[in-house]
Amino acid sequence: MKNKIYRCSGCDLDVETTDYFDIEIRPKEGVCESSLDSMWCDLCENETKWFLGEGVPWKKGEQSMYEFEKRVTDRNLIKLEEEINKINKNISKLKDKVNNSSFYNFFYSSRLQTLEYLLESKTTEYHKSKKDVEKYMDNFSIDYWSKFKSTPKCIHCGNQSVNKDLLHSCGGNLYYEIINSDLHINYGLHQPNTKIEYDANGDSITHKMVKQ
Ligand SMILES: [Zn+2]
Ligand SMILES: [Zn+2]
Repeated sequence: MKNKIYRCSGCDLDVETTDYFDIEIRPKEGVCESSLDSMWCDLCENETKWFLGEGVPWKKGEQSMYEFEKRVTDRNLIKLEEEINKINKNISKLKDKVNNSSFYNFFYSSRLQTLEYLLESKTTEYHKSKKDVEKYMDNFSIDYWSKFKSTPKCIHCGNQSVNKDLLHSCGGNLYYEIINSDLHINYGLHQPNTKIEYDANGDSITHKMVKQ
């Protein structure tokens, strides 16, 4: 894992960024996932996650879009996937027959050819549909956020003034070094202990989860 240590040319500031390992940031129910960015926050005196109020490309998104939207648009893909699996099964069954019989070879071969042709066209259709769904989802996310005209906000304190020049409140310049922490983590099993939910304006509520 990589963290940063921020220092300042004008004072003895020395802060390590949080790795967000124990914090899950997600949209409130009914709100689309927004892009987030890591930026310095003057009020938190650290680098924090900022809500941007911008769309997230579907593939990059964690929660992607409304689950409902996703399910509706995915339905065709799932159907195609099932069809492809079925054709694949039939092909392997037929191949067994072709291998074990000489008499029906001609019949099975032409049947096999038909199935392979069908497989190819269904696979092409599947990839095309998948691209269409992704494009639809990307636009869905971008359209969603363009309606709100939200401004960036620190997810923790709601600060809206972005410190682009990395000037510290003391007047000095902020700079950082990247450090490798030796923490090795199994993300798959990990349960964050804090959940931050944001609404369409980027205002957030923090929930502390009680460990069972
Ligand atoms: Zn300073
Ligand atoms: Zn802040």
